Amino acid sequence: MEASEAPSTAIDVAVIGGGPAGSAVSAFLARLGRRVALIEKSRHPRFHVGESLLPSNLPILERLGVSEAVAAIGRYKPGAEFVSPHHEQRQVFPFADALNPSPDHAYNVTRAEFDELLLRHAAAAPGVDLWEGYTATGAERLPDGWRLTLRGENAPAEIRARFLIDASGRDGFFAKVESVRQRSPRHNSAAIFAHFRDVSSDAWAADGSIAIYWFEHGWIWMIPLRNGLTSVGAVSMPDYLKTRKGPLDAFFIETLKMCPKAWTVLQNASRVSPVRGAGNYAYTAKKAFGDGYLLLGDAYTFLDPIFSSGIYFAMQSAERAAEAVNVVLDRPELAGRLFSRYQRELDNAMARLTWFIYRFNSPILRNLFMKPRNFFAIRKAVVSILAGDVYRGGTLSLRLAVFKTIFHLSRLANLRTDREDRRRREVLPSISLPDNEIADRL
Ligand SMILES: Cc1cc2nc3c(=O)[nH]c(=O)nc-3n(C[C@H](O)[C@H](O)[C@H](O)COP(=O)(O)OP(=O)(O)OC[C@H]3O[C@@H](n4cnc5c(N)ncnc54)[C@H](O)[C@@H]3O)c2cc1C
Repeated sequence: MEASEAPSTAIDVAVIGGGPAGSAVSAFLARLGRRVALIEKSRHPRFHVGESLLPSNLPILERLGVSEAVAAIGRYKPGAEFVSPHHEQRQVFPFADALNPSPDHAYNVTRAEFDELLLRHAAAAPGVDLWEGYTATGAERLPDGWRLTLRGENAPAEIRARFLIDASGRDGFFAKVESVRQRSPRHNSAAIFAHFRDVSSDAWAADGSIAIYWFEHGWIWMIPLRNGLTSVGAVSMPDYLKTRKGPLDAFFIETLKMCPKAWTVLQNASRVSPVRGAGNYAYTAKKAFGDGYLLLGDAYTFLDPIFSSGIYFAMQSAERAAEAVNVVLDRPELAGRLFSRYQRELDNAMARLTWFIYRFNSPILRNLFMKPRNFFAIRKAVVSILAGDVYRGGTLSLRLAVFKTIFHLSRLANLRTDREDRRRREVLPSISLPDNEIADRL
């Protein structure tokens, strides 16, 4: 859109943020016949962390009509692998082993490409006006909707819309304005990451899988991308991150070296991107909706990325939000009921993962992951969780309940180890690693 155009009063929904959540909700709303203003502050392609998709995401891409395009830019991902310093063998979890292995794979993507693909796809939908290069700076509630002020690259602009969706990611446009965001009291890690070339193929047993390496202070991800690149990141606990004194890039390499099994496959690789960081990153907003607005994706909640769930939750909730908002635009009296259900379903699905996330660095959970027994098909249930099957109840819930019982029994049998571990993971006030701190430029 051009700033010279008159502010539109015919917009049904203004969507702030053109990441996976914002682009998906805009496309789904347009399909339902709604007129959408999609506002994105940067110009795509732009860098974003978070490159590993889940199998559960694939049906959404299919419904959006972009699955072939994503397959063309993605690296086929058949599963997830775990490597522990205390176990000789790595554990390979192929998605084909899930309780309901459909689909049995996912993709790893370079987010600059993936996010641009989704944004252009949304912008091409009849009914979507893309405001690229515009930052939403203010939102004023009017009797019949919203007046949004935008800062353009050359000039300011204004949009009026009946409904507002905040899909601004970790920036949290609305969450911050309304002071509704609260940091997770139980999880306070931060991540440091970069792209590498020529990582040894020994990093993975199955070509294309994501590999997770535990080390003393957290875990390291290795996500193979197309074109010989690998995304490598270290997620660490507060007590370790507090020890950082020097620049981020040196600290990153020191951290990788602390995991000898990871360093073995990385030592001959070259870093081809700046080192970036994301700090203090688990949070949630108190509410996913309010008078005339809804929060989506990371603008609502951010979970630790250990299960690569962020994009899936962003796009899955986008589809559900589009359906709910479409109804509410015609029948505002249903807002409370429909949006409460939207939030409840999302919270319940996320709770499935947070149980694992809060315990991921504990030696007891690590042991269960590294020596998985398939008694009562529990291993299959764990693979289902790794594949993003987080909305289904039935036998999956039952098997997960058995897994949790085994975990709690093991904890009782190992009380001392457990107590020491819990003390280490106590949440400290904050981590000195601002979002997008960039260590250096190439
Ligand atoms: C270290 C780390 C590793 C991760 N790894 C994975 C992974 O492997 N797999 C996975 O699925 N997820 C991963 N994630 C999470 C994933 O990146 C996010 O969950 C996902 O990007 C959420 O999508 P979104 O659309 O909600 O937000 P975003 O993708 O962040 O998009 C928000 C958009 O809003 C725009 N914006 C912000 N403010 C404004 C404004 N005021 N006006 C206009 N535009 C604005 C931004 O420019 C951005 O384009 C990871 C996250 C981190 C931090």
